[in-house]
Amino acid sequence: MYSKCGLAEDTLKVFKRIQEPNIVAWSAMIDCLDEQGQIQEAAELFSLMRCKGVSPNQHTFASIAGVAANLGDRLYCEGVHACIFKHGFESEIILSNALIAMYMKIRSVQNGWRVFKEMSSWNSASWNSLLSGSQNGKTCDRGPSIFHKMLAEGFKPDICTFTSILRSCSNLLNIKFGHQVHAHIIKNGLKDNNLVGTSLIDLYAKNGFLADAELLFTQLIERDLFSWTALIAGYAQSDCSEKTIKCFNHMQRQGVTPNNFTLATCLSSCSNMAMLENGQLLHSMAIKAGNSGDVFVSSSIVDMYANCGCIEEAEAAFQGMVSTDTVSWNTMLFGYLQHRQGLKVLENFRMMLDKGLEPDEVTFIAVLSACSYMGFVNEGKEYFDSLTNVFGIVPTIKHCACMIDILGRAGKFNEVESFIKDMKVTSNPLIWETVLGTCRMNGNDKLGESAAEKLFELNPGIASHYILLANIFAAKGRWEDVRRVRALMTHCGVKKEPGCSWVMVNGQVHIFRSTDGFHPKHGEIYIKLKELVEKSILAGYVPKTDHILNDVSDDEKLEQLFHHNERLALAFALISINPVKTIRIFKNLHICEVCHDFMKLVSGVIKQEIVVRDANCFHHFKSGICSCQDYC
Ligand SMILES: [Zn+2]
Ligand SMILES: [Zn+2]
Repeated sequence: MYSKCGLAEDTLKVFKRIQEPNIVAWSAMIDCLDEQGQIQEAAELFSLMRCKGVSPNQHTFASIAGVAANLGDRLYCEGVHACIFKHGFESEIILSNALIAMYMKIRSVQNGWRVFKEMSSWNSASWNSLLSGSQNGKTCDRGPSIFHKMLAEGFKPDICTFTSILRSCSNLLNIKFGHQVHAHIIKNGLKDNNLVGTSLIDLYAKNGFLADAELLFTQLIERDLFSWTALIAGYAQSDCSEKTIKCFNHMQRQGVTPNNFTLATCLSSCSNMAMLENGQLLHSMAIKAGNSGDVFVSSSIVDMYANCGCIEEAEAAFQGMVSTDTVSWNTMLFGYLQHRQGLKVLENFRMMLDKGLEPDEVTFIAVLSACSYMGFVNEGKEYFDSLTNVFGIVPTIKHCACMIDILGRAGKFNEVESFIKDMKVTSNPLIWETVLGTCRMNGNDKLGESAAEKLFELNPGIASHYILLANIFAAKGRWEDVRRVRALMTHCGVKKEPGCSWVMVNGQVHIFRSTDGFHPKHGEIYIKLKELVEKSILAGYVPKTDHILNDVSDDEKLEQLFHHNERLALAFALISINPVKTIRIFKNLHICEVCHDFMKLVSGVIKQEIVVRDANCFHHFKSGICSCQDYC
C-alpha cells in the first residue's frame, strides 16, 4: 500500500523491519524505489539481495531491467541480460520484452533487435517494446515499418502501440502516416483514450495543424498537464506567442500546474516576441513553484531577459543559477553577443573553461562573432585554430562564415579570398552573404559585386542581396549600376520583405509598418515625430540620404525616412508610456543607418534610454551614443 502511495522512505523503513524478506518483498521494494526515481538505490538493493543469497525471480528481473534502462549504463544493462540468461529465464516472453525495451531506451538498438529476433514467440507487448526504440532520434524512421509489420503479422495494437507510433510520426513530421495511424485508432475504438488523444494533439500541433489539434483538445474527456502542454508547445512552435500565453493562462485557471517543460516553452515564446511583462510573470511563477532550480527553465529565463533587451536581468538570473551546463553558458554568451558586449563574451568563455565545462560548436559561434564585432583579428584566428587543435571540433560552415566576417570587417579582403580558396566550399550562400555584408561595410564594390552574382545564381529570390549590392554601388556613386540592380530585382519578381516594428504598451503588442496611416493614434504620432525631428535638427542632426535605393528628390527621401516604422513606434511609445521608462522597440529587419543616427540623437534630446532590437542585435541608445558603437 505504501509503495503505491509513492512513499519510498516509509516503505523502506517497513522493509528494513522485516527479519528475512522474501523475494516478493525484495521485488516490491526495488519496484517502489524505481518508481520514485531512486534508481541508484534500487540497483544497490538488487545487489544487496543477491549478496544475501536470495534468488531473483522473473518479476525481479523485469523490474531490474527497467532500473538498468533508467540508469543508462550500457555495461550494467548487459550484466542484467547475462544474469537473466544464467538463471535460465531467457525464453520468458515478459523478460525478453523487458530486455528489448531496456536496450531501446539506452539506444542500443541493435541489441534490442537481436533479442527480438531470437524470441520463439511474440505478443503485442514485444512489438511495443520494439516500437519504443523508434520514438525519437535517428531510429524514428523505423517506426512506420515496424507498425505495418506488427499489423500484418496479426498483432492487435493497443494504447502503448499508438502512443509510440504517434510520437515517431510527430518527430518525423510525417503527417501522412499520422493520418493512417489516426484511422487505425478510430477503428480500434481508442479515440476517446486520453493518452492516445494527447499524442494525437502533439502530432497535429507539431506539424502545424493547429486547428486539428484544437479540435482534438476540445474533444478530450479529461485535460491534464500533458494535453495542455502539447497544445501550448504547438502554438509556441508555430510562433503564435500570444496564443501560447493565452492557453497557458487558461490552463492555470483550470487548476493545472505547469511542469518545467511547459514553463520553458512559454518562456521561449515570450523571448521570441519580446513579451517582457509576461516573461517576468513566468519568472516569478517559476521561483514560487520551485521550478527555477531546473537548468532548462533557468536557461530559458536568461534567454527571455536577454531577448527582451534586459541584459542586466539576464546576467543576474544566470549568476543565480544553481547548476549550469554548456547550453546555459551558451545562452548567456549569446545574450552578451546580442547586446554587443564582446568583452563579456570572451571573459565568460574563459570562465566557462575554468569551470571545466566543454564548449561546443555553438559556443564557438558566439566567441568568433564577438571577436568579429570587437575587431579582434588575431584572437579570432587563434580561437578558430583552437577549434580543431584544442577542442577537436570540425569547423562548420558557420564557423568559417564567422572567420570571413572577422577578416572582412577588418578590411583584409586578400585574406578573405585565400581563406575561401582553402575552404574549398565555393557554393555556400552563407559564405557569400558574409562577404557581401563586409564589402558593404568597407566599400569594396569589386568583391561585393562578384559575391552578389554568386548569390543571384544560387538563389535569385532574396531581396536583401540586391539591396546590399545597390547600397554598395550607391555609396560609390555608381548610379547607373544602382538602376541596373533595381531593374534586375523587379525582373526577377523579388519583393522587399515588409518591415515592421513593435512596442509593448500596457501588456499589448502594437505593430507599426512604414506609411502606417491606420493606427488610431496616427495624428498624435505624427505630431510627436515632427517635434522630435525639429528638436534633433536643432541639436545638429543632418540625415544622410545617399544610401537610399530610390534616386528620388532629396525632399522625398527625407519624407520617406521620417516614416520608417521604428520611428513611428518610438513616437507612439513616447506619447503612451507615462511615467517615462526605458523604451524598447523591436524590429524584424535591420535598423537603417539614418534611423540609427536619429535614435542616438533623440536619446540625448529626450534624456531617456531607447533600446532597439533589430534583426542583428540590440542597440542601447543613451545620451547620444549607441552600445553597438556604430559597428553593427
Ligand atoms: Zn530607418
Ligand atoms: Zn547601434
